[in-house]
Order: sequence, then structure tokens, then C-alpha cells
Amino acid sequence: MRKYSAFAIAREAFRHHSGWQRAWRSPEPKKSYQVVIVGAGGHGLATAYYLAKNHGIRDIAVIEKGWLGGGNTGRNTTIIRSNYLQDESAAIYEKARGLYEGLSAELNYNIMFSPRGVMMLAQTEHELRGYHRINQANAIQGVATEMLTPEQVKSKVPIMEINGPRYPVLGALWQARGGTARHDAVAWGYARAASDLGVDIIQQTEVTGITQSGGQVTGVQTTRGDISCKKLGIVVAGHSGVLAEMAGFRLPIESVSLQALVSEPIKPCIDVVVMANTVHGYLSQSDKGELVIGGGADGYNNYTQRGSFHHVEETVRALIETFPIISRLKQLRQWGGIVDMTGDRSPIIGKTPLGGCFINCGWGTGGFKSIPGSGWALAATMASGEPDELAAPFGLERFAEGRFIDESVAAGVAH
Ligand SMILES: Cc1cc2nc3c(=O)[nH]c(=O)nc-3n(C[C@H](O)[C@H](O)[C@H](O)COP(=O)(O)OP(=O)(O)OC[C@H]3O[C@@H](n4cnc5c(N)ncnc54)[C@H](O)[C@@H]3O)c2cc1C
Repeated sequence: MRKYSAFAIAREAFRHHSGWQRAWRSPEPKKSYQVVIVGAGGHGLATAYYLAKNHGIRDIAVIEKGWLGGGNTGRNTTIIRSNYLQDESAAIYEKARGLYEGLSAELNYNIMFSPRGVMMLAQTEHELRGYHRINQANAIQGVATEMLTPEQVKSKVPIMEINGPRYPVLGALWQARGGTARHDAVAWGYARAASDLGVDIIQQTEVTGITQSGGQVTGVQTTRGDISCKKLGIVVAGHSGVLAEMAGFRLPIESVSLQALVSEPIKPCIDVVVMANTVHGYLSQSDKGELVIGGGADGYNNYTQRGSFHHVEETVRALIETFPIISRLKQLRQWGGIVDMTGDRSPIIGKTPLGGCFINCGWGTGGFKSIPGSGWALAATMASGEPDELAAPFGLERFAEGRFIDESVAAGVAH
């Protein structure tokens, strides 16, 4: 595949952009692959890329029922951070954040990683104590975070009202190298690089069944025929329960719609990411000028990918006290994505009860930030057949053993 470069842009400018190649191939599915991955979201594509690049396994199909990156990967608010409480979480999220730093160069695709800093506001005494605890844990884990005073918060975000009547800002946990990236570009970059290494990305093809023999996976049934494989990776986020049922096991996962919205574009007014977890709203400004605003999850299980009026009201009402400036903005778009929630708000990565079948799910409301680390870990696990160091704590068996990696209170409540 031809490299993207400043020279290539100049060359194409002189020949009316006639020489650009398609970013990835669209091959017909073969009858058989060594590895099949279901789901061409960021996690599935990253897994395929690292299987090919790190482990030399190139006979891979990634099967996607819609278009690649059209699930949660293309619907999220793109916050990247690694300031989690538990050591296991910090390890995989920090691995991912580190990979994000060099990903544009590695993939030869501008994923627009912007380490502008992530600020998690403490708006109750309880939250402030919680963030002090995470800050201490991060120091031991080697994750660079610091506590900010309300005055430091105000100087970084002048549009913020820190003396709000109900929830004044008492401080914040700050990760300077956290930030955002362009979500579509992450999917597209991995797809292009994986395709270049020989991975077949098969879009508009739904997996409708999983075949097995003697407790071992043998392949998948799809809307374009049967495909056999030696190893299968299920990486379908909100639809993990559906695929698990096809494979004959159950998952401790609930699927709910998580919503977000963007405002009309305005002049630059905020150059960091702010998360206000007490009132549950978070905010950043996109390169186009839109305020990207994340809201809550629906209070009931569902598979809709739509927005709803009460979420707009709740989310914006919560944020206006801290950001009065947004009260007169118009909303441009609103949407939902189906997130896969576990009880301890940590992911599931590893083997399943079906031999040769691996799973990566449970990232819930916060799996965009982990895409490179998760793909890295699942690829290593699938290549060797045993969980690698990063994946090992996140095995499915932890729910039977009661060995939770509890991120529900401290840091996993939001994104
Ligand atoms: C509104 C919202 C805001 C969020 N904000 C953040 C954030 O700020 N930061 C953060 O880190 N995370 C955030 N997240 C979470 C993050 O988006 C997800 O954890 C992550 O994108 C999951 O990626 P994935 O590749 O596992 O899933 P997806 O991107 O959903 O990909 C799964 C794919 O599987 C396909 N599929 C499903 N069933 C089948 C089938 N039977 N056959 C074939 N294909 C199938 C789907 O079509 C889909 O494309 C947010 C999520 C939402 C919805």
C-alpha cells in the first residue's frame, strides 16, 4: 500500500488526485481462515492488526454486520485517560494510552491524538477523597496524574463557574497526557494497516451462528455463507450476549444505550476535557468547534442506538450550573450506542467455555481509550492460546471466583 506523506499530497495535487488507492480492500470471504474475528469496531480491528503485526498470523477475517467503525467506536466522545484505581486497570489503560501517543506514525494514518489533558472534577467531599486516593494509586502505578485546586481548575478552564450553588468545584484530578483522538480515524487507521498486512475485512455480513464440534469452535455461519476457522474472537461490545448465546455460554453483561450530543460549532472556548461525574456530564470541544457532550445511560436494557429527549434535558441541566455559557447553545446532533456493562465495570478478555473461542467485551462506557491496549492483549492471548500478562486479570472466571476488579465507584462510572 502506498504511504501517506506530504510528498504524496503534493504528487496527487499535481495529477488531480487520481492516484489515491482505496484505504482497505473489500474482498469476497474465503471458505476458511485460521482466525475469524466478529466485529469491526476499534477492538476487533486492533486485534486483527496486532495478530498480523506482532504474531505473524495473517490468515484472518474480520466480519462486520454493518460498516466498520459504525458501532460504539464511531459513536463515542473519544476521551482517553488511564487514571484508574486498580493496578490491573491502570496497566492496560496506560499501555493503550502509550500506544496512542505513537499510533499515527505506526499506522501511517493521522488519528488526531490530542493529549490536551483530562480534568475530573471533584464536586463533593466524597469525590475529592476518592480522587486523592486514585492520585496516590496512580503515583505507585507510574501513571502521571496530579490534584488541582479550584483556582488551578479556573485558570485552565476560564468558562467554568467553580462556585456553583449546589456543586461547587472542590478540586480536580488532572491527567496532562490524557485527551482525545478522532474515533473514525482510529478504526480507519487500524483497518487500513490490517488490510495491508493481508487481513480480509468483510463488511455488511452478519454472523448468525457459531459452529462447534467436540467442545471446539469450527467456524461461523454468516449471511454470506459458512466460514470455518481454527480460532474465533468475539469482539462485538453491546451484542456480546447475543454472540455468546450462539456459542452456548452466558455472560455477566447488560446491554444499554449510552447517549451523547454535540452543540452547534462555536469559537474555541475550552482546550481540555472536563468530566463532572457527580452531576454526570462531560464536555470537550472538537476541532470543528462543536461542544461534545456525553450524558448518561438508559435506565433499562435495550438495543436502540437513538437519543431521547429526557437525556438531553438531564445532561444539559447538570452541566449548565458548572458551564453557564452553554445555556443558549443549539444542539446539532444526538445519538446512542449500545454499551456492554459488567458488574465491576471492568472488561472481560480471554478464553471462553468453548475451545478456540475468545472474547473481548465489557468495556461499557469507557472502551475507546483502551482500543490499542485491548487489541494488543487479545492478539497475544489468541496467538498463544493463553491470556497474556495484561489480559490475565480480566478473565471470565473472575465472576465465578468473586475476584472483581472494581472500578464502579472510583473511576469507572464515566468515560
Ligand atoms: C455515547 C458513548 C460515549 C462514549 N464515550 C467514551 C469515551 O469518551 N471514552 C471511551 O474510552 N469510551 C467511550 N465509550 C465507549 C466506547 O465507545 C466503547 O467501549 C468502544 O468503542 C467499544 O468498541 P468495540 O470495538 O468493542 O465495539 P463497537 O465499536 O461497537 O464494534 C462492535 C461491532 O460488532 C458488530 N457486530 C455486532 N454483532 C455482530 C454480528 N452478529 N455479526 C457481525 N458483526 C457484528 C457491530 O456492528 C459493531 O460494528 C462511549 C460509548 C458511547 C456509546
